Amino acid sequence: MKKAILWLILLLTVAALCVILFMPGPRFKDVIPDLPALQDLPDLPGNTEPPHAEIELIGDKEVVLEYGQDYTDPGAEAWLVSADGSRQPLAIEPSAVDTRKLGTAEVSYSVIIDGEKVAGVSRTVTVQDTVPPELTLLGEPGDPDYSALDNADGDITDRVQRTEEADRIVYTVRDSSGNEASAERVKGPILEFEGGESVQIPADYRFFEPGVTAVDMYGRDLSDRLEVTGEIVPWEPGSYEFTYTVTDDFGQTVTRTRTIEVVPAEMPETVLQEKVIYLTFDDGPAETTEALLDMLAKYDAKVTFFVTYSDPRYVDMIGRAYREGHSIGLHAYKHDASVIYASEEAYFDNFDKMQEVIKEQTGEYTRIVRFVGGSSNSSSAAFCPGIMTALAEDLTTMGYRYYDWNIQPEPDDENVDLDRSFVTLRYGAYEYCEAGEEPPISLQHDTAGWNVFVVERLIQWGLENGYTFKGIDMTTPEVHHPISN
Ligand code: ZN
Repeated sequence: MKKAILWLILLLTVAALCVILFMPGPRFKDVIPDLPALQDLPDLPGNTEPPHAEIELIGDKEVVLEYGQDYTDPGAEAWLVSADGSRQPLAIEPSAVDTRKLGTAEVSYSVIIDGEKVAGVSRTVTVQDTVPPELTLLGEPGDPDYSALDNADGDITDRVQRTEEADRIVYTVRDSSGNEASAERVKGPILEFEGGESVQIPADYRFFEPGVTAVDMYGRDLSDRLEVTGEIVPWEPGSYEFTYTVTDDFGQTVTRTRTIEVVPAEMPETVLQEKVIYLTFDDGPAETTEALLDMLAKYDAKVTFFVTYSDPRYVDMIGRAYREGHSIGLHAYKHDASVIYASEEAYFDNFDKMQEVIKEQTGEYTRIVRFVGGSSNSSSAAFCPGIMTALAEDLTTMGYRYYDWNIQPEPDDENVDLDRSFVTLRYGAYEYCEAGEEPPISLQHDTAGWNVFVVERLIQWGLENGYTFKGIDMTTPEVHHPISN
């Protein structure tokens, strides 16, 4: 019996659960009667909105502009909406925004009907200045020695703060928007080295300053007041120290040192050219140089002049020869072995003077050289033993080429023999070109006028036989004699 009651309770519980879980709930559409669709409602008064205005902003609600920036406010759009929903656009006048006024302004648009504002929108426009003023330090001392100009505030020179520190003067200025600019002057002269405090220069016959500038705190040039101390042998590779000192108008002195390292100069490659004859003329220019140049021009033949300053009356022939395509080499300023071979210093002093003459005539320094007496001369030993050995090495280190000769068509005595000279020249030119080991290079003198006839015959023979007459340049292989001193 007890068991039966328990079964009944269980059965009832399951049934109840089924009713709860599966019984359909109340459905609203069953409960609430069907409503007519909105559009089916009769047109009753009060069911539609009355005519009204609508307004909408075009663009962003907040705009940030830079001072002076071009800006046109995009404005707003407005409509009048009728009772039947039709929309009629309303004209809204665009507002101007003055971007030359710093700060935030509100731009408002309203629709006013019958004197009453019926709709409105607005935006904020902020004009800001983030550009710092321009602070300029002026080149001359004085009060004030600066100026400041701002894009928004205009001339604000009177707002510049000048602060003196131990080694400098600092200038600062701030515009009304808080933008700051500053500048400073270093007190005392400023020494600047081109290439830095340690610089390399190629070996040369004199010291070419690698570049130094000195200005005072106002930027005024003090170069002519520079005092430079230091010893250098410009043709001798090595490290040299120089000290530069300069004092300005205010009695302030600056001293700086620089290390100058002299290094061997670079030398271009040489090229042995086929069937090219190099005629060279020493000791000119002289009275007879002009006739030689006239003759060479007829054949467009080029030669080399190893020039001197022996007769300044004809110095302009160096310029003419150069302009007509001939090569200009350096021989001597003063053609006197006892002077130029006294020492390396004496030789390069003479060299320097001749380089300046050449530069004046041609616009450039030359890098080709012929020693007075040739590199094999022994007479120099009387003035300075070993000088030719030293000079030959110096020139090579300096990136210059020196040329001796392998054809000597002029007689040693005064007995001029045109035929013998021509034959010597022709034979030498032919032999050296055939051998192909070194270029044929003659030794002649434009101080000897008769050379014109010999050279003209040689040129005629050479041109008929496929030879070319050229001036020596840095790619011409050197012809050297054995050095005897
Ligand atoms: Zn000479």
